[in-house]
Amino acid sequence: MAMTLAAPKVKVDRAWQLYIDGKFVDGGSTRELINPADGKVLCKVQEGTAKHAEAAIKAARKAFDEGPWRKSTAAERAALLFKLADKIDEHAEELAELETLNCGKPLREARFDMADAAQCFRYYAGLATKPNGFTVEVPAPSVTSIVREPIGVCGQIIPWNFPMLMAAWKLAPALAAGNTCVLKPSEFTPLTVIRLVELLDECGLPPGVVNVVLGLGPEVGLPIAESTLVDKIAFTGSVKTGKVIAQAALTNLKKVTLELGGKSPMVVFSDFDIDTAVDYALFAIYCNAGQVCSAGSRIVVEDKIHDEFVKKMSERAKKIKVGPGIDPETEMGPLVSESQYKRVLEYIEVGKKEGAKLQCGGTKSEGKELNEGFYINPTIFSDTKRDMRIVQEEIFGPVAVIQKFSDEKEAVDIANDSAYGLAGAVFTNDITRANRVIKAIRAGITWVNGYHNTYNECPWGGYKQSGWGRELGTFGLDAYTEVKQVNINLEPVAVEWFQK
Ligand code: ADP
Repeated sequence: MAMTLAAPKVKVDRAWQLYIDGKFVDGGSTRELINPADGKVLCKVQEGTAKHAEAAIKAARKAFDEGPWRKSTAAERAALLFKLADKIDEHAEELAELETLNCGKPLREARFDMADAAQCFRYYAGLATKPNGFTVEVPAPSVTSIVREPIGVCGQIIPWNFPMLMAAWKLAPALAAGNTCVLKPSEFTPLTVIRLVELLDECGLPPGVVNVVLGLGPEVGLPIAESTLVDKIAFTGSVKTGKVIAQAALTNLKKVTLELGGKSPMVVFSDFDIDTAVDYALFAIYCNAGQVCSAGSRIVVEDKIHDEFVKKMSERAKKIKVGPGIDPETEMGPLVSESQYKRVLEYIEVGKKEGAKLQCGGTKSEGKELNEGFYINPTIFSDTKRDMRIVQEEIFGPVAVIQKFSDEKEAVDIANDSAYGLAGAVFTNDITRANRVIKAIRAGITWVNGYHNTYNECPWGGYKQSGWGRELGTFGLDAYTEVKQVNINLEPVAVEWFQK
């Protein structure tokens, strides 16, 4: 029976504006957003300039230095964040549809992101009121306490793969700690971020505490990273841009956290059930069409099961239902933009030229509904060599490369043979070996016999060129605070270090 697609209920034909100092305002021009599912114009959004970035920074500065937010109690900030989380839940379906239309991801993934974002605000709302700081015993008559305070104005630049979730990861801890924020979403995917800030506005957030500037990275993002009025910059995106941000932050040595790319290994030993491992490998690489910084993009397989694994994984990859994210039957959507789509197709050509064996995919997805969208079939390369570009570079698309190993030492060597160190996984029934391998893998997020579980309670970030610092968990809150020691002399008498 032919399925007719239910039209999305969410309204996109409306004003999409910047949010500066508690007001929704126009930018200097407009930008057409393209629906990656059909290549057509989805809607127009306002676009900001360096002037808007400057106005937003000034508003955030004033809100931090003079406004009520910094002086608010943790319980007041928590109450606002809980309220926001409830609003996200109330609007979850509308937000999920928006995310799908803007990014291309299947609805089931967008729904998951919305629930996760609400949970992130709740986690930090809860954490805001929990004990922080401590006292240390010093010689009487002094008492000393170590306290945490907000850093100040936080610049936050986020990418296009998880717009709502990345906004939550940035805003929730920053606000819980009492900072003010200037947030810049990706120029490709600002819609859910604008809706989020509309919901925040409804919650009664004081003006200037959160500002959203829309626009291009070099035009709007860079001035935020450079500004001496900004105390911290948090960035998620490519290594290339991360290096630009780190450099720009030197103007006033602002605090920097960077969550950058990955080329994460998923190591499979032959003692593990092969069908289950194949199932996880598909999940590791094809979620969000591989546009995930922690994607399991290198599947490192023991030689004894290699050929069977490749065959089974290819058979299942071919069955993945590629289509518009808004179709509830879709399992994998299009890539986010034409430029990303072209970039991934170029990498596939590179892989072929380098001599890797294309096992499946490698092509644009064909079909009535798919011709105009940015779809690429789930792709697998085997017979790879360690120094190939497709093995070393982050493709950020539905392209898995298979690497073969013969013993545990080689598995670890291959897993660590990367400039990145974001995530890694090992699949084996031997718990001692699992522990050894995970300890040896140089990455910040690891799994044994699993992939992709992400918890708001646990630190997120990478070793090596995958970034600086950690988001989420208590580490994420720490990254939005300064540490101060307070020494109180209870019996001040003259110190008489110098003669009278
Ligand atoms: P990608 O290459 O995957 O699109 P980027 O790292 O370029 O990822 O983009 C992530 C975010 O960084 C986006 O919001 C983008 O606008 C922003 N950005 C890109 N270039 C710069 C720059 N030079 N300075 C500041 N922000 C930038």
